[in-house]
Amino acid sequence: MTDFAIALAPEPRNGLCGMCGEAALWKKGPRVCILESGSPVCRECAQNHAPQHFALLDLAISAERVGKACKHLLTPPMESLLELNRAAETFALTFPAPLRKAA
Ligand SMILES: [Zn+2]
Repeated sequence: MTDFAIALAPEPRNGLCGMCGEAALWKKGPRVCILESGSPVCRECAQNHAPQHFALLDLAISAERVGKACKHLLTPPMESLLELNRAAETFALTFPAPLRKAA
């Protein structure tokens, strides 16, 4: 089993995905990496192999995008709020529901 982490990269990177070996381009900022090697993972592999990390990354990227776009607005547009809501729901649904004890 591979362990993953989210790393904050100060620079963009062009290289091969640590999981599938396909070429990919990563922007600077947060990205999903393999914990042992630090190799970045492409979006498709992150979505398949580390869905919780992927959902958290998607939420962070959505929040950053909406924050920058709506920086000087009193109320963000509905489209931005829906984008944040979608990312938050996806993140919340990637965690399994807590188990209930049988009475
Ligand atoms: Zn990949």
